[in-house]
Amino acid sequence: AFVQPVAWRGEVCGAIVIGHRVARRASDEERKDTRELADRVAVAVSSAWRDKQLYVQAHFDTITGAPNRLLFKDRLELEIVRSHREGLTFALLFIDLDHFKNVNDSYGHTTGDAVLREAAARIQLCIRASDSLARLGGDEFTVLLTNLADPQEAWLISETIVAALSREFVAGEHRCFLSASIGIASYPADGGSAEELLKCADTAMYRAKAKGRGQAVFYEQKMNEEAVARVSLDRDLRVALQRGELVLHYQPLWDLRSGAIVSAEALLRWNHPTRGLISPTRFITLAEDSGFIETLGQWIITEACRQVRAWRGQGIQLRHVSVNVSPRQFRRRGIVEFLRRSVEEAGIPAQCLQIEITEGLLVERGEAVEAMLDEIAAMGHGIALDDFGTGFSSMAYLKRFPVHYIKIDRAFVEGLEHSADSEAIVSAIIAMSHALGKLVIAEGVETEEQAMLLRSLRCDHAQGFLLSRAVPAADFTMLAALPRAAGVLA
Ligand code: C2E
Ligand code: CA
Ligand code: CA
Repeated sequence: AFVQPVAWRGEVCGAIVIGHRVARRASDEERKDTRELADRVAVAVSSAWRDKQLYVQAHFDTITGAPNRLLFKDRLELEIVRSHREGLTFALLFIDLDHFKNVNDSYGHTTGDAVLREAAARIQLCIRASDSLARLGGDEFTVLLTNLADPQEAWLISETIVAALSREFVAGEHRCFLSASIGIASYPADGGSAEELLKCADTAMYRAKAKGRGQAVFYEQKMNEEAVARVSLDRDLRVALQRGELVLHYQPLWDLRSGAIVSAEALLRWNHPTRGLISPTRFITLAEDSGFIETLGQWIITEACRQVRAWRGQGIQLRHVSVNVSPRQFRRRGIVEFLRRSVEEAGIPAQCLQIEITEGLLVERGEAVEAMLDEIAAMGHGIALDDFGTGFSSMAYLKRFPVHYIKIDRAFVEGLEHSADSEAIVSAIIAMSHALGKLVIAEGVETEEQAMLLRSLRCDHAQGFLLSRAVPAADFTMLAALPRAAGVLA
């Protein structure tokens, strides 16, 4: 073989190798041609390098290393095309640092640059890897938040950015406080082109400044009102827990064969001083989004355990009380330890506390929660699969996870007397669940006919307004003390 190195900037950056089948020396002419070829390759490498340098200079900001206006507009346009094609929504944030000029004026540009770098790094930490940050120039940044399930998510992220930029900046021996004003534009609601969206976000940013800085404002006024309403409900909810305005009500479940009350489901109620009882459908999703559900969920478990303890003391015989557990509570392993501690502290057997989970948890986080559910089941807790039939309803999940009860969703029970389809579905769910060794609960049983039909289909337990709504613990005590739930039930 004959090897000709390719040299660029005094170093070998490659080689041209000519191999022969038989041993022979390269002729002078071959050597000369190869040398010339190597020189040309070196020139090509050099110009590719220069192109790359030019691209970086043209598309990235030299201070923060973030994409600049040119590249950002490119990405924004691509995102518009993609979102249009796939029917997605995204948000554009326009971030302006409040009072940044003071930093440059008082401490000089080196400090100013360091603050900008730090600001970019902090923003980057608030967004997901798939979102993109850019510096448009001066103290202006933009962020593209893609794949938003709900435009309000953009507001939550903006608030975390505002909080991150409000912390003290330290550059060398200088320390300073800044804040940020953020304008939010949403695609497609606020505009269909990059220019329109940038203009809307910019306008909203000026409104944020006018409203007193240090906040995020949607271009669309209505969105602000929604965001504020959600945040104030979330804040009220936190206060409500401290003030004892949250209570658990209990709905009885009965055995379809004997008619006896066998267990209870704990359902959360907000006893609002002026608005009366507020339904959990109004605030559970909110608490899930804001993360408050983790604290709230712990309170629910503690409270249910306390009630079980009290009922056991009064001689009320229930197989268990079940509590609803949101997927978010499974984010950390803490739920397993919390359950263990709660039953221990209340001094009740683990069997007395059951948890209700939804299929969504198994579908989305199956791998991650499998070990936790196994552990929870091994501790002795029963596990019920809530709202069955509305989600994916895969029998594979039933087989794989330690689920003891299947709760057939109200939607199928509702039309039971009049719909042959509903009856066929319910009957199939019951047969398959029984084949897998699980018990079946029908939710939302409101009429005697439904109860009778379910009984004939060999459904095990029922829950619904026919027997009782969810009631305060004291009322439940009286209900459970009746010799048999109600004449109609057996
Ligand atoms: P879910 O777990 O499916 O609870 C059953 C819902 O159906 C309850 O509504 C209950 O009052 C209602 N219901 C029961 N029987 C009947 C009936 O015969 N007819 C009709 N029309 N409705 C009936 P609620 O209490 O408003 O709860 C709604 C949802 O809020 C629950 O659905 C659950 O997903 C969530 N939730 C309630 N309490 C908690 C809680 O403590 N923690 C969590 N994470 N979620 C909760
Ligand atoms: Ca439930
Ligand atoms: Ca349910």
